[in-house]
Amino acid sequence: MQNTDAIWRLVEAKQQSFCDLSDRVWHTPEINYQEYRSCAEHAAMLEREGFRVTRGVAGLPTAVMGEFGAGGPVVAILGEFDALPGLSQEAGVAEKRPLAEGGNGHGCGHNLLGAGSLLAATAVKDWLAANGLSGRVRYYGCPAEEGGSGKGFMVRAGLFNDVDVAISWHPAAFAGVNNPISLACNEVDFHFAGRASHAAMAPHLGRSALDAVALMNVGVNYLREHMPSTARIHYAVTDGGGSAPNVVQARATVRYLVRSRELSGLHALLARVYRVAEGAALMTETSVRREIVSGDANLVGNTPLESRMHRHLERLGPPVFDDADRTFAEQIQATLTDEDIATSFARFGLKPRKGVALCDTIFPPGSGDGTLVGSTDVGTVSWIVPTVQMRGAVYAVGTPGHSWQLTAQGKAPAAHKGMEHAAKVMAATALDVIRDKDLVAAAKADHRARLAGTPFVNPLPPDVEPPVMGVR
Ligand SMILES: [Zn+2]
Repeated sequence: MQNTDAIWRLVEAKQQSFCDLSDRVWHTPEINYQEYRSCAEHAAMLEREGFRVTRGVAGLPTAVMGEFGAGGPVVAILGEFDALPGLSQEAGVAEKRPLAEGGNGHGCGHNLLGAGSLLAATAVKDWLAANGLSGRVRYYGCPAEEGGSGKGFMVRAGLFNDVDVAISWHPAAFAGVNNPISLACNEVDFHFAGRASHAAMAPHLGRSALDAVALMNVGVNYLREHMPSTARIHYAVTDGGGSAPNVVQARATVRYLVRSRELSGLHALLARVYRVAEGAALMTETSVRREIVSGDANLVGNTPLESRMHRHLERLGPPVFDDADRTFAEQIQATLTDEDIATSFARFGLKPRKGVALCDTIFPPGSGDGTLVGSTDVGTVSWIVPTVQMRGAVYAVGTPGHSWQLTAQGKAPAAHKGMEHAAKVMAATALDVIRDKDLVAAAKADHRARLAGTPFVNPLPPDVEPPVMGVR
């Protein structure tokens, strides 16, 4: 494929300043919708690179978009920059050592995710500028991937309506084309309201909202036997109504996260959970109010785009790590169990091998059985436009997601190498979208065929507002 090597040189030419961007974001870990400094860093980089920048897109103060080029196909490259609570950790050490006790940390590698995607978009921009071809590349700086459904709100605002193809990646232990399986999900708060009373002197006057929460949990736990085995339901009591046992709790809230393999199955399962909540309210003579907090659709795959991305991965080979990279990765592995390491191989359809600290192979497309998967807001984008994602090899084999070990590796030279590698594959794939009409046509036909007869219902209904300013 001609000229893809030129795009790789464009990635290499700027990788250092994007590794620095990733490191700066690593040092300012901000959670859901509070990513003001991280978003400002991305906006400043977009401006420095000559993109047309729009801040606060979709009414989200921590979302940003940059565009370059004119006419032609529109390729979107998606980035993220949100961190996780409680995963503060010193970089470059293989022992648990929080920088701030209980503080935030980049335990999902989104500092690399955002900077790597922006590096890919910048290389495509530089290529377009050098070659004078029509076509547009857009970088979407997306907030709140961790349970905030940032991209769902961006989809709802129509930001992807004129996009031809969307490309993204996620840090991982091995490199390859992401197997497009994720669970559609909704997070829903159930607010129960009852009547307070003295628990001993006037128990007959009280109606306990906390009892309603307890009964709802019992009901849902019985429901589990009668739902598809691929579905998941989790819950957390976010308001127990108070700390005094001698007061009947007049209010209580339980948050449910309901997940299903398909969007249609999600709507059906949610309806059943709603009935259980109503039953709990009926039994306790309380009332219940539902509030949808977030929601993501499942991922829709795209064979033509996945094949093309895999071809670039095969041509490029896995990232090249050195002995120092492997030594640190081995120290991280020493903090993990054998099961952690075996799971890391299995997730990508690979047979466990001894003595493999860092990725040394490209995993085959469609790898992994997809039984242990989570949710991502990229899923919602994938219902609107043909979407492809890769997994980039940035950390030690066996590193669990959302762990201090992951935060500890977020600034390591191996992480920077894996990020540059992912940027090269995404940039080459994006360039194909701009130059290869047949690829775009095939991707769109595949997308239409997969969704034929399945109406898209955004799991974020129109009345759900994003919790901006960190209010929730
Ligand atoms: Zn993540």
